This record gives sequence, C-alpha cells and structure tokens, in this order.
Amino acid sequence: MLFDDSPVSSPIGIARLAAKSPLLEAKSRVQYFEIETRGVLNRTKPGMPFRWTINPYRGCEFGCKYCYARYTHEFMGIENPALFEDRIYAKSGMVPLLRAELRKLDPADPVAIGTATDPYQPAERRFRRTRSILELFAAGRGRRLSITTKSDLVTRDIDLLRAISVANSLNVNITITTLDPALARLLEPRAPRPDLRLKAVSLLASAGIRVGVFPNPILPLITDSERRLDRLAAAARRHGACYFGGGLLFLMPSARRVFFPFLAEKFPHLLERYQQRYMRDAYLRGEYVEMVRARVREIRARYGLENGPAEHMPEGVEQPAQAALFESLTAG
Ligand code: SF4
Repeated sequence: MLFDDSPVSSPIGIARLAAKSPLLEAKSRVQYFEIETRGVLNRTKPGMPFRWTINPYRGCEFGCKYCYARYTHEFMGIENPALFEDRIYAKSGMVPLLRAELRKLDPADPVAIGTATDPYQPAERRFRRTRSILELFAAGRGRRLSITTKSDLVTRDIDLLRAISVANSLNVNITITTLDPALARLLEPRAPRPDLRLKAVSLLASAGIRVGVFPNPILPLITDSERRLDRLAAAARRHGACYFGGGLLFLMPSARRVFFPFLAEKFPHLLERYQQRYMRDAYLRGEYVEMVRARVREIRARYGLENGPAEHMPEGVEQPAQAALFESLTAG
C-alpha cells in the first residue's frame, strides 16, 4: 500500500473528535462529516500578515495537486494525504464560539478566512458555515478581515461582503494560478474554471469590494513564465483587481507525496528537477526565487497593481487605537 490511512490506535484531541464525527453526507467519493469545534480563531505564528485565521472546513474538495494543507488531516489521524480532498469536515457550533471570541479580540488584529482550506468549496453550498461566520462580521465594525478562495461561490455572499466592507477593512483574494483551463483542470481538478474566478473578481469589484488576484503558488517551469504571469495580471486588472500577489510553490513532505506522482504522470520531464530542489527543502531559495520576485514586481508595476491586500478602513469608522484611547479618556 502506498499510503497508510488507518486511524491512530488511541486518538486524542482533534483525532478523537474526527473519529466520532457523524457523517453528514456521502457523494460518489466525497464524504462530509460534522466535527465539533473547540475554538474558531486560530492564532498564527509571528511574521504572518494576519494574526488570526478561520477555516470553517477541514479538508478541501478542490483537490489541488500542489496543496500544502494536506498535512492538516494528519492531525486527525488520517495519514493518507489523498483523503484530504475526499473526507471533508464541516465545523459545528462556530457562531456562539466566535461571537464570544470576537468580544475579546483586539479589533486591530487582522483575521484571515480560508488559509488552510477553501471557505467556498462545494460543501459550503449546502452547509453554509462560511456564510454564518460572515454574518457575525457584518454585524461588527472596525475589524480587519480577508478572505481567500478559488471559488466563484464567494459571489453568493456579496450582500454580506458589502455590509462588512462599509464598516470594516475587507480584502477578498481570488487565487488564479493559470488562465489556461486545461492546465487548471490538471492542477486543480475540482476547482471552478479560471474564467469563472475572473468573473467573480469582476462582480466583487463592481459591488465595491476590494479584491485582488493571487497567482499562487507559482509553479516552476509550469506557470512561472513572463508570458503566463503577464496575461494573468492583465486579466486581473481588466476585471477590477486592485492587487496581484505572487509566491512560489513550497512543498511539505505530505504535499510531495501527491505532487511528485502527479508530475511523474503529467510532467515527467520535470520530475527529477523538482525532486532535486524540493527533497532538500520545502522552500526554494536563491537566484531563481529573486528572478521570479522581480518578474512579478515588474508585471505588477506594468498594470498599476498593488502588491497585496492592504488595510482600507472606510471613512468615518474609528481606528481601534483611537476608539480605545477615547474610551480610556471617557471611562468612569
Ligand atoms: S483550494 Fe487551497 S486548500 Fe483547497 S485543495 Fe486547493 S490549495 Fe488546497
């Protein structure tokens, strides 16, 4: 057997919760479970552009071949990285927990939704866990929120996103690795087509929501050419994106276990080069990295795009620091 997916013998913590999660639904190969939530906001390590993350689902049906988040299923005792896309866990009970957590959260702390799994993957159509969270944010003010997705389903929630963006800083990041639908189908087999994602960019921008495009991960010798990135940035601009991110592929061991067999099948001429680079280190370093960064910078400048999400607190919404100062002056 290539991978062992047998559950750990005496599961504890999240693995215990996963083991007792009731089945919500099973499609031909995908099974949906409901997993109890112990906390909605997860603190990030220092150095990240956001302090807290929220992932309403565990696992992601889009099944991107390069997905770095496959290791998160290992926490639940699921060792086979391929099951990351076939066993989806919708978190339960998030709303009351998040409401309590937000009361204690410094509004200046940036919160990112969708950092480890896509918040608008197919499960969201039925289980609406992301939407339930956005309803809470729509009732608040002065917060800094970002959402990252590959799905045009995000446009379903334009009503809430507008409500959030009138009283909070909101950025929506749409990931588009390539405009080539055939290549996208290979790399991201169950994610919406690139043209649908671009249409989502347009609809969000037209609704007055700050939106950007991430070509991440940029795949060496597959999506890293000047021509491909230039076309993508041009399309992003045309559809109303404000910014264009850009980061190279990194491959953790669990991601390599899916990505290398994929390369062997679809890009056999690249396999050895990838193995040489990524078996040493999950991250690329050196001249090539600098070259791609410079390329993305130049392309961005060509189309007048910013380099990433930025804080845009709407006029009239107090900055949290000012609000806190005012409260301390007026207290008692
Ligand atoms: S959309 Fe993101 S989380 Fe989902 S499979 Fe693709 S890379 Fe992984």
